[in-house]
Amino acid sequence: MSKSNQGLNTICTHTGEVKDEQFQGAVSPIFMSSSYAFMDVDVKRYPRYFNTPNQEGLSKKIAALEKTEAGMIFGSGMAAVSTTLLAFLRSGDHIVLQETLYGGTYNLVVEEFDKYGITYTFTEDLSEAAFAKAITPQTKVIYIETPSNPLMKVTDMEMVSALAKKHGIVTMIDNTFASPVNQKPKDFGIDIMIHSATKYMGGHSDICAGAVAASQEHIDRIWNLGKNLGGSLSDLMVWMLERSIKTMALRVKAQNRNAKKLAKWLDKKEQIDKVYYPGLKSHPDYALAKKQMSGFGGMMSFELAPHIDAEEFQKALKLIKPSMSLAGVESTMLCPAQTSHFLLGEEERAKQGIADGLIRFSVGIEEKKDLMADIDQALEVVLKKATIVAD
Ligand SMILES: *Cc1c(COP(=O)(O)O)cnc(C)c1O
Repeated sequence: MSKSNQGLNTICTHTGEVKDEQFQGAVSPIFMSSSYAFMDVDVKRYPRYFNTPNQEGLSKKIAALEKTEAGMIFGSGMAAVSTTLLAFLRSGDHIVLQETLYGGTYNLVVEEFDKYGITYTFTEDLSEAAFAKAITPQTKVIYIETPSNPLMKVTDMEMVSALAKKHGIVTMIDNTFASPVNQKPKDFGIDIMIHSATKYMGGHSDICAGAVAASQEHIDRIWNLGKNLGGSLSDLMVWMLERSIKTMALRVKAQNRNAKKLAKWLDKKEQIDKVYYPGLKSHPDYALAKKQMSGFGGMMSFELAPHIDAEEFQKALKLIKPSMSLAGVESTMLCPAQTSHFLLGEEERAKQGIADGLIRFSVGIEEKKDLMADIDQALEVVLKKATIVAD
């Protein structure tokens, strides 16, 4: 069977593994060396050149997962985002970014780009008209993130890539939330896929890493800057990430199933005002999500009814951990108004539709009945407290 025809779980388990020539062990050996021979070798290897045996192997797996020619692994998601963006932008260039982005990416743009003479426009919404309006003759990159954090809005990838191609613009996507299991942006014409591998690729909340997948030509350009910026990942972490990705498709599919069941269940609860999950028929982007995602993912958010205090609710949870970050096998929740979107201020949050009682839910692989029981008991605790105060 040709390698390109291999299925998702086979790619996750095997692609890019480093052969153990010496002992024929079942898994890739770790090569921790930071010093390699330079004489009589085909490749001069060095960790910051992203080309140690383990880095090279894992890059192949990333590329196979996104169906691209080449890939790269970074020390964090933001190292991947910043290196990729700056590889394609220089002084005088302009970039169009979609309205809602991961906070770190937003900060990179608004805090740093001025220094480099790079101008930017955030779209007013996710419509074709909004993207078209933001493009200028200097625009070199369009950058999207779908589904978005925390309201799970969906951007039309085919629309964006067609618009960009018309103007000769490079397209980039932050594909972290969907993961390559649920979404293959290249099928819709997107050029460069970026991941915080800290999330679904790592999947166990114990690795900080980033990844990029693109054509060889685009990766060469990113590599040229990457070796100078120095955002490479240590071989020990590369090895851990390779190990984690072996089970990524199994994990993410279990998370898809759990999230869909929980979204439907939460949607019926009277203590929950609204559920934002692209797999719910009531979600405004349901049809688009169905077209471009093979699974709806493990991320959702929901709004507690006004009489339920978000902080008390999170404190009352016993199984689900209120914590930053997402995508682990364990379920976590956070309140964007208290964390990721705190700095925006009340007014801007209201404008973006982020209510104080909005909870972002990263659904894990636990039994769904146990997750439901935990949410139920937490709601009960908060309601009981509220009645005592009212008395
Ligand atoms: C976490 C995250 C990032 C940044 O990744 P780090 O590994 O924290 O640097 C970028 N994009 C999205 C969507 C994320 O969730």
